Amino acid sequence: MNSHNESPTVVVIDDDAAVAGTVSSIIGRAGFNVETFVSAAEARERLRSGGIDVVVSDVMMPDINGLDLLEQLRRSGVYVPVILMTGSPKLDDTMRAMELGAFRYIAKPFDRVTVIQAVEEAVKWGRLIRVTLTHTTEVSRQTLEAALDRALDGLCMHYQPIVGAANGKVFGYEALMRSNEPTLRSPPAVIDAAQKLGRLHTLGRLVRRLVAEQISASRPESVIFVNLHSADLADPQLYSPDAPLSKHASGVVLELTERESLEAIDNVDKRLAQLRALGFRIAVDDLGAGYAGLSYFSRVQPDVVKIDMSLTRNVHSDPVKRRVVSSICELAKDLSMIIVAEGIETTDEFNEVARNGVDLVQGYLFGKPAPFAQSAMAPELALRTTQ
Ligand code: C2E
Ligand code: MG
Ligand code: MG
Repeated sequence: MNSHNESPTVVVIDDDAAVAGTVSSIIGRAGFNVETFVSAAEARERLRSGGIDVVVSDVMMPDINGLDLLEQLRRSGVYVPVILMTGSPKLDDTMRAMELGAFRYIAKPFDRVTVIQAVEEAVKWGRLIRVTLTHTTEVSRQTLEAALDRALDGLCMHYQPIVGAANGKVFGYEALMRSNEPTLRSPPAVIDAAQKLGRLHTLGRLVRRLVAEQISASRPESVIFVNLHSADLADPQLYSPDAPLSKHASGVVLELTERESLEAIDNVDKRLAQLRALGFRIAVDDLGAGYAGLSYFSRVQPDVVKIDMSLTRNVHSDPVKRRVVSSICELAKDLSMIIVAEGIETTDEFNEVARNGVDLVQGYLFGKPAPFAQSAMAPELALRTTQ
């Protein structure tokens, strides 16, 4: 982008070299920097590289016409003002030019003054738009940053019981973050904000510290399941034996969700081996949610698999879900993995997954996420009623 003191740069595009030359010299003599192109394809590369204040383009050109060029620029988020010139103005084209936000549509032949005035006004307009866009981006970033700070300040963990399908005894609890920031209420909203602001490691460390503090304070006999974001795998603190959660590793299952790809993380196998060496067990969360599927499963070789609630919802009455759940169970049992069915809300769903040999169940039927003291008192009521 040009500074306010430099001469603005104008790109002129016309497949008729004589017209391109005339227009360029009119604009050049008025004190602008001019770059001339005889095809839109050639100009497109230049436009992508930025630093242009105005584009003056012919409409009818053999490769890409001026209107298509304008549309491509808008789609790629380039907000440079475009002045279109045409020898044969058509109503359809004019309408489309307006829809696409062309700055002006001028008919050939045109006089020198019309061209220069249009370019001068377009330069002013373009600068105004850029200042507004920059300001808006900056303001929304600051707002998000402040909201995330508040969410992190008030973040706490709730715990949802995971119970044995056969005996109804609490096997463990899944730790789930809770925020009291009104603009970032749900865990995915907090995670999304942290991701946008490049603060996922701060969030992950906070979650692990809060869980470690809870374990230290209440010394539960049961296992605690902790969700990781795939980005957490790239945080060296996760692997430190001195990190707060590492001290409790043998009682912790780290959940990696199938929803997030591991593509961006290098040496995944080595990293998982390191976590296992510290004593952590690994779970694949949300299995069957329709993302990475079985390739993820074989990559991670988890100790625990958690079947996603999209599969367990109404599993008793949906023949396809029944088959999928039963195949997952068969495979996981074959590989000696512990199976958890998530999101169990009804007795029918419970009976169906139990019939398939699921080891553990989790869902509103057995207890909603709650502060640890409340969760730890959760009775085994729901299960008893089903047997
Ligand atoms: P998830 O790990 O699969 O957690 C289960 C989600 O299902 C939780 O939603 C839980 O409250 C909800 N749930 C449990 N039982 C039932 C049920 O019977 N019916 C229904 N409809 N929902 C049930 P929550 O707490 O809103 O968390 C959503 C997701 O956000 C989690 O899915 C997890 O992927 C992520 N998340 C939550 N806490 C953390 C965290 O501390 N760290 C990371 N990295 N991710 C987290
Ligand atoms: Mg989970
Ligand atoms: Mg899940």
